[in-house]
Amino acid sequence: MTAIPGPIDPPTRLLMGPGPISAYPSVLRAMSAPLVGQYDPFMTATMTETQELYRGVWSTANDATLLIDGTSRAGIEAAMISLIRPGDRVLVPVFGRFGHLLAEIAERALAEVHTIEVPWGQVFPTSVLEDAIVRVRPALLALVQGDTSTTMLQPLEDIGEICARHGVLFYTDATASLGGNAFEADAWGLDAATAGLQKCLGGPSGSAPITLSERAVEIIRSRAKVEAGIREPGDVDAPDFVRSNYFDLGMILDYWGPRRLNHHTEATSMLYGARECARVLLLEGRDAVIERHRINGEAMLAGVRGLGLVVFGDVAHKMSNVVAVEIPEGVPGDVARAAMLNDFGIEIGTSFGPLHGRVWRIGTMGYNARTDAVLQTLAALETVLRRFGAAVPVAGGVEAALSAYGSASDGD
Ligand SMILES: *Cc1c(COP(=O)(O)O)cnc(C)c1O
Repeated sequence: MTAIPGPIDPPTRLLMGPGPISAYPSVLRAMSAPLVGQYDPFMTATMTETQELYRGVWSTANDATLLIDGTSRAGIEAAMISLIRPGDRVLVPVFGRFGHLLAEIAERALAEVHTIEVPWGQVFPTSVLEDAIVRVRPALLALVQGDTSTTMLQPLEDIGEICARHGVLFYTDATASLGGNAFEADAWGLDAATAGLQKCLGGPSGSAPITLSERAVEIIRSRAKVEAGIREPGDVDAPDFVRSNYFDLGMILDYWGPRRLNHHTEATSMLYGARECARVLLLEGRDAVIERHRINGEAMLAGVRGLGLVVFGDVAHKMSNVVAVEIPEGVPGDVARAAMLNDFGIEIGTSFGPLHGRVWRIGTMGYNARTDAVLQTLAALETVLRRFGAAVPVAGGVEAALSAYGSASDGD
């Protein structure tokens, strides 16, 4: 046979793209801790402890706050297929790639999907969302908070009240934004929210934090009854559900809840990692972490402008943790990104669909929302841009970032 490869030995990268990002070192250490059995008292206590930590991260008192094993998409799918009944009207406002993903998953869940769109680089005014809710009368509003494909952050704070007034369930995908931008699950009236670790939470992909309101849990429970054949009068004509075992939130809730009914085997190392992501966030302080993302995001924004780059989209509605810049005329985008990676060990991202090859996306998230990471990225970008013929002011990026830090209240 061919030679057995050596042990895994990845290059050291500074991951400054839109995610995944470099994990907090303590998260990687936590993930190498010894394994315990599925019902070891340490395991169940760690699950319970992790639930409580994530109540802090989500800013919620929801009992149903837990992890779905799988990447962020696992959380999205678990939430949507559990809350949608076939034929339900679902409203999906689309302002980037991940809105299309929510619409696709809603379709697979046999919903009657209604989308509204704004051009990439914009968000929805609240009044437009309310008008659509009144027109469509959906059972569920599925709305991305931060769409990394465009870097935009949809304001959510007034939407929950509108949903409540119209009897609409409110779900958001906060994968890109949670931990780097304000999020208030209870105060904003969310019925369901999901995320992942590989953005502002500073872990690897593979675990999806989720929180569900009591109303959402009631719907999940009533659906389980229908599936078990204990149909309620109104449900007699319900067509077949899209039934998943792995993403059956009723069963997953029973596994995480006091009954501890066996479902899957909780991914132990991911649980340790997810716990550590929440622990470091709460230890630093939720507001302090959000502020650190704001400060470093503003420094990166000032820096790319200092390099003469044009920022994509409505900057007033940008997420703190990622910026998109137009690739200058004449610069080969993918070749320049490869030079960033190969010569400097720094990864930045391109984008999808209409923005592929048009913009680069540069993130400042989680562990990498740091002064040195921002300055190194800007210094490397300056060199690479110049090599490909762009006219770049000498030290323009680093100087602009430094002065942004200087005028911030807490620059370091
Ligand atoms: C990055 C991102 C995801 C990623 O999903 P994965 O399954 O973890 O790849 C989902 N939603 C949004 C809004 C994102 O930004």
